[in-house]
Amino acid sequence: MRPSTIAIDGPAASGKSTIGELLARRLGYLYFDTGVMYRAVTWVALKREIPPENEEAVTALAATLHIDVLPPTVEDGRQYTVMADGEDVTWSIRRPDVDANVSLVSTYRGVRTEMVRQQRRVAANGRIVMVGRDIGTVVLPDADLKVYLDATVEERAWRRCREMQARGEPADYEEILAMMRRRDEIDSHRAISPLRVPEGAVVVDTTELTIEEALDRVLSLVEERECRPA
Ligand code: C5P
Repeated sequence: MRPSTIAIDGPAASGKSTIGELLARRLGYLYFDTGVMYRAVTWVALKREIPPENEEAVTALAATLHIDVLPPTVEDGRQYTVMADGEDVTWSIRRPDVDANVSLVSTYRGVRTEMVRQQRRVAANGRIVMVGRDIGTVVLPDADLKVYLDATVEERAWRRCREMQARGEPADYEEILAMMRRRDEIDSHRAISPLRVPEGAVVVDTTELTIEEALDRVLSLVEERECRPA
C-alpha cells in the first residue's frame, strides 16, 4: 500500500518545504508546512506588541488565533496562502523579526499543544505530506513514512541567503549563519518536542544533492513502502 501519511522533519533550510511540496504534488496529496503556524503566532504577537518573552500572553493568543492555510490566492511565487484572523500573512511571517523570535515562541508548551491539536485534525484524512520539526516524533508518530532531511549548517545558510536575494531582500551570509545556528540550538535543546531524528525515520542528507536528486531519493522510499507486503 502507498504510504498515506508522510512525515518530513529536519532543521531550517534542509529542503523540507521544497521537497515536501514537490512530493505532495507528485502523489496528489495535501502539502502542509507546520512551521507557518508557529510563524503566524509569532508575527501576530509582534504586531500586537505582545512581547515574545511573555509566555502567558503568547499562549493565550495561540489559543484564540484562527490560522488557515489555503491554496495560493495570489500568483506571486507563494506555495500557499496563510491567513491569521482573516489577514493574509503569507509574506509577513518570513520577515527577519519573525525568524529571530519564532524558536522562542515554539518552546511554549501551551502554544505547541494548540498547534499539534490543529495539525492532527488536518492530517486525520490521510493523503498528506506534513513538514516540521516534531511530526514523526509527536504529531504523527504512526506516520506511514518518516523522513528526516538534513544538511550542513553552512549549506543551509547559503540556501536561505539565495532565497532572500531571489525575493529582492537584503541578505548577509554571516548574519544568516549565526541566526541559523541559534535556531538549531533552541530547536534541538528545548524541553518539549526537541528536533531529533524520529524513531523509524530514514535520514536523507541533502548537502550534496540537487532538488531533483533529493526528491528522487524520497520518492524511492515511497515506492519501497508501496511494494512491501502489508
Ligand atoms: O520550518 P520553519 O523554519 O518555517 O519553522 C519555523 C520555526 O517553527 C522553527 O525554527 C521551530 O522553532 C518551529 N517549528 C516547530 N515545530 C514544527 C515546525 C516549526 O517547533 N513542527
